[in-house]
Amino acid sequence: MSLEVAQECKQRAFAELHDVKVLFANRGWFPGTSGNLSVMVEYGSPSDFVFAVTASGKDKTVHTPEDFLLVDQHGRPTETTHLKPSAETLIHCEIYRTMGAGAIYHVHTVYNNIISELYEDLGYIPVEKVELIKAFNIWEQDARIEIPVLPNFAEIPRIAELVEEAINPQIPGIVLSNHGIYAWGANSFEAKRHLEAFEFLFEYVYRKKLLLRDFEMFKAEPRNLHAKSIS
Ligand SMILES: [Zn+2]
Repeated sequence: MSLEVAQECKQRAFAELHDVKVLFANRGWFPGTSGNLSVMVEYGSPSDFVFAVTASGKDKTVHTPEDFLLVDQHGRPTETTHLKPSAETLIHCEIYRTMGAGAIYHVHTVYNNIISELYEDLGYIPVEKVELIKAFNIWEQDARIEIPVLPNFAEIPRIAELVEEAINPQIPGIVLSNHGIYAWGANSFEAKRHLEAFEFLFEYVYRKKLLLRDFEMFKAEPRNLHAKSIS
């Protein structure tokens, strides 16, 4: 039997998810009904909790009374509902079980897809000396971080099995290659801050790689770059 959830706790969680959903939808972070969001509602232990999660297959740019549902630590609905949680809810379950987080936000973006594809073989995305690394409460000078990248298996349980091992406790996020990022935090505010920082870093890595490629090309043959820029 799942934990009892007070109505006001459920309503507060749904309201939080609604606000984040509106914000991210306005940024274009839910293309093709992708992405999912969750916040913890009642936490008893790593094997006993209830969280609110976005319903599967919904257009997240549209807001309805049927956008969210409550699920337990196995990702099963805790109330009678015709709504279904996303299959990816299992990954949220694993992150909550392992990290005891307060909120988890998952989005697919072009930057997180491209960068995760480039670094999948390495198993992590290295980033260093960027000020926004401090968003993860890492304060050392010129810090270097490694953001874990997991393979994007078709079977979600196969991915969920890898989550605990992949998590670096200092880094509040994991990326599925060519798929998207899961970022978490102690609460909704922190999870949002972390997600925004990750997306900034992915865009930074992407643009820097392009710039360096052009710079190398320029060093090798200055006229190449000039010809490219006016073509
Ligand atoms: Zn996804």
